[in-house]
Amino acid sequence: MTRIIDGNEIADDIRADVKDSVETLTEEGVQPGLATVLMSEDGASETYVSMKQRACEELGIEGSHIEIDPEEPAETLYDRIDELNDDPSVHGILVQMPVPDHVDKRTVLERIAPEKDVDGFHPENVGRLVAGNARYKPCTPHGVQKILAAEGIETEGKDAVIVGRSDIVGKPMANLLIQKAPGGNATTTVCHSRTDDLAEKTRSADILVAAAGVPEMIDGDMIAEGATVIDVGVNRVDADTEKGYELVGDVDFESAKERASAITPVPGGVGPLTIAMLMYNTVEAASRQSGVPVEL
Ligand code: NDP
Repeated sequence: MTRIIDGNEIADDIRADVKDSVETLTEEGVQPGLATVLMSEDGASETYVSMKQRACEELGIEGSHIEIDPEEPAETLYDRIDELNDDPSVHGILVQMPVPDHVDKRTVLERIAPEKDVDGFHPENVGRLVAGNARYKPCTPHGVQKILAAEGIETEGKDAVIVGRSDIVGKPMANLLIQKAPGGNATTTVCHSRTDDLAEKTRSADILVAAAGVPEMIDGDMIAEGATVIDVGVNRVDADTEKGYELVGDVDFESAKERASAITPVPGGVGPLTIAMLMYNTVEAASRQSGVPVEL
């Protein structure tokens, strides 16, 4: 029987632990704070930011939100980041991507104080992750690691194949899976759009992580019998629904579940973990900056 992994249930457990830690911090006079910054009128970005703010509210984290007109000069955004860096009530800063073309994305990532970079995208934090000394693990790959742990899926000695090499999912996922640490020790292959014979690579996976952003590109034929399939993809495709679209993953769920031993659905798989891990990182940030220890 194929196990359909319930990401909401795993995320709920993590959120409960985060909430306990928020209470511990609050009792010590530390109110964890997360600032989100949006410089876009993109509907999906607005939705992501409001989901993050709602999660803050539910867990007792002080959420603050800044919206900057996308027509404003880049300096406006850089100045706001500086202000947030200097604000002791803000422990975590998240600038929702994408930013407008006239804003330099690298400058944004480098401007956020590494201690407050709860996304884990500052080059210093990327370097620490690669060196096996992560300050904040990037939320989505960290969430995937939590799913594997919660489901008792061993990574050590396993062949892991990741489809996608982005800075936010594919590369940090690979870095976590190859670490000499629990949740790592996998033999890891990273595939991308120039990979020759992708199906041959994906079929070699004990653990397959799909993060390409291509709707249902991985079907059952590309999956080994008994593999664990983690579908990070979230793709809007036209559908006869009220909204006019539906969300599908990078994996063709129906054919994949005939082959996999365990699989995450879309929605309800990896997605809920990403926000839970952002809350987790925010609480870690508050704990580190205040010196009040928490158990996460
Ligand atoms: P990017 O577009 O930044 O990266 C996609 C990667 O997939 C690239 O490395 C690209 O290769 C590779 N790729 C694209 N097409 C193919 C193909 N046909 N064969 C093999 N590799 C391919 O995407 P992200 O990493 O930001 O996101 C990936 C997916 O995950 C998206 O659907 C996104 O919505 C979703 N996502 C979901 C999250 C969640 O919380 N569940 C969080 C973040 C992302 P190349 O480098 O050669 O171009």
